[in-house]
Amino acid sequence: VRRTPRDGADSVIRALADSARATARDAGLPLHELVAAGCAAPGPLDHRTGLVHEAPNIVGFIEFPLGPRLSEALDGLPVFVDRDTAMAAIAEVAIGAAHGQRDWVYVTVSTGLGGSIVSGGRMLRGATNTAGEIGHWPVAFQLDPSRDAGADLQRCGCGSFGCAESLAAGRNMADAYGVNDAAEVYAAAARGDERASTIVIRAERALANLAVGLVNVLNPALIVVGGSIAERQPSHVLEPMRRGIADRAFRVPAAAVRVVPAALGGDVGMLGAAFGARERLSGRGEWFL
Ligand SMILES: [Zn+2]
Repeated sequence: VRRTPRDGADSVIRALADSARATARDAGLPLHELVAAGCAAPGPLDHRTGLVHEAPNIVGFIEFPLGPRLSEALDGLPVFVDRDTAMAAIAEVAIGAAHGQRDWVYVTVSTGLGGSIVSGGRMLRGATNTAGEIGHWPVAFQLDPSRDAGADLQRCGCGSFGCAESLAAGRNMADAYGVNDAAEVYAAAARGDERASTIVIRAERALANLAVGLVNVLNPALIVVGGSIAERQPSHVLEPMRRGIADRAFRVPAAAVRVVPAALGGDVGMLGAAFGARERLSGRGEWFL
């Protein structure tokens, strides 16, 4: 585990390669005996080419060829890149909460908010392989037509407004309250602080809207919810999603879906990266490609 360098993409590649080499060394595995590596990265990205389109939290990751550059830094070892939430979904379906499921959605509620959509046993990729950015599903807008549609709403990091992430992600909740960690917002709300309670209730409503949308549009059998905030605050994350679905989604898909906690915890992206690399290398990766 290392800090993400803040001085550019070259440093990030160096840190990733150093970390991978150290891990291989500790495991007694020379690099030339490995057949592939997996790399989970923030998106949107193209998993086929390993190109990260934009990752605002990593300096220098704009249209950055992460896969090819990392492969080069690891003496030509094939590197399979995918979005962190896609890797998490691969792990949860392989050995976690979604084992055996063909129609389901992975949602992570953490510092950010994201997910992946699996439909008919295949990961939904879209026309240019960026599908599944459900954190940027718009769930709110200003109803008063005399005002701007985004008035009173926190701008999202993606440039839009009303995104689920802008209301329910830990970073955004902490920013809205003026602290560093969303845990402080939940603690203040539990003490009865009105401003914190408002932020928590808005987050719950955003998650409920997101859940209703996912159920009505995708008809999943399962919504697996992971991430640090979902783990620590299930009554503020999973419960409002369940209530929203029960109260407002169409009856048939609402009856067919369960909202459950993720099973694999903080290592889910790493596990998924290993599974993903193995499956793609061996040509068995069709279901998630
Ligand atoms: Zn957004």
